[in-house]
Amino acid sequence: MARIVMKFGGTSMAGIERIRHVSSLVKREAERGNQVAVVVSAMAGETDRLVHLCREAASLYDPREYDVVVASGEQVTSGLLAITLQGMGLNARSYMGWQLPILASGHAAALIEGIDVDVLERVFDGGGIAVIPGFQGVTAEGELATLGRGGSDTSAVALAAAMKADRCDIYTDVDGVYTTDPRIVPKARKLDLVTYEEMLELASVGAKVLQTRSVGLAMRYGMPLQVLSSFEDRPGTLIVGDDALEDSPMERNVITGIAHDKNEAMVTLTGLADSPGTVAGIFAPLAAANINVDMIVQSVPRRGEKSVLTFTVPRASLAHTTAELEKVQAEVGFDEIVTNTEVVKVSAVGVGMRSNAGIAAQMFQTLADRGINILAITTSEIKVSVLIPEEYTELAVRVLHTAYGLDSEDSE
Ligand code: ADP
Ligand code: ASP
Ligand code: MG
Repeated sequence: MARIVMKFGGTSMAGIERIRHVSSLVKREAERGNQVAVVVSAMAGETDRLVHLCREAASLYDPREYDVVVASGEQVTSGLLAITLQGMGLNARSYMGWQLPILASGHAAALIEGIDVDVLERVFDGGGIAVIPGFQGVTAEGELATLGRGGSDTSAVALAAAMKADRCDIYTDVDGVYTTDPRIVPKARKLDLVTYEEMLELASVGAKVLQTRSVGLAMRYGMPLQVLSSFEDRPGTLIVGDDALEDSPMERNVITGIAHDKNEAMVTLTGLADSPGTVAGIFAPLAAANINVDMIVQSVPRRGEKSVLTFTVPRASLAHTTAELEKVQAEVGFDEIVTNTEVVKVSAVGVGMRSNAGIAAQMFQTLADRGINILAITTSEIKVSVLIPEEYTELAVRVLHTAYGLDSEDSE
């Protein structure tokens, strides 16, 4: 007997027919003698709809009330799944975040503080199945809280860690983690194994198949994750520690995957003084305003000459960023703030980069051969990212995928 968390995303829960199919997958796991907790997302499109309603109601809405509205999508699907499971003769019940409770702090992007598993232990002792809405928790003050978009993945992994599950299965609309988004590159290849570290980097640079926080949690607790399809019955992708790779006979590419992120905006400041403290004078107020700066490039033509500073922030923070910069413009001293939202960040990720030189150079050459201009660059030990004009997104992802030898063999 194993303890399993099964998480079903929005497309898997989109409508009663889909929910019936999910019920059959849950039933199969329960009939194998496993203890099962199911975490569900809202139906596909529902959370977007609820977010838009909040925006329509007021452009600056209270995050506490936003949480009350957007958490409702998961309440509906968990109730519906419990009903269909009961209809199949299974002993299933839904438990809202506040009923367990899943304790969280903050609103709109709340952090999970802890999960009480007493209720779940009683459910399992009685041979039952627990259905839990993803994305939601409850604050110490008893208020509803949501975990940020895509947060049901994090709910599932946190629950799996708290109940000491043997594994956490993430059922979605693709049958695993691919070398890049298979909806953009049909030649993308499914990966059998991905390390936590690689998945963390891939998710953080835009592979939204898993919420980044969920991968961080799985890594911290050594929780084996499996990404698989709720539509097709075939093996998925296992996300595991580095040690699992050592026994793996599979030959691994230097690059594991390519991801892209259209959620960044570029800010360029011209005519900056070349003196100590200038850059600090720009980034300190942005940090104080909780604005996450990602890529940074500064060019100083010659000592003493005015410089140009380019950096990226989340698109949603752009208006806030320019407002903060305008406040310090006179004091710090720069000529102009130029912004550009038509950019995309494209990244190559792979643990093999540690022992292989020339990965970045290959990226720059591949893009140059296609006439794609690079606006900014960042690297980490296992990642290279470039910022390029948004219009080249598909082309860049495709040519890099081919250049790094990732194209699937049967797609020739
Ligand atoms: P769910 O609603 O099940 O949580 P998501 O839409 O959040 O599903 O995540 C699944 C989607 O992630 C896929 O439909 C796919 O388009 C996208 N995706 C992006 N990068 C990758 C990748 N490297 N491998 C697989 N899917 C990816
Ligand atoms: N329903 C939420 C969202 O769309 C959470 C999730 O699906 O993971 O962001
Ligand atoms: Mg998701």
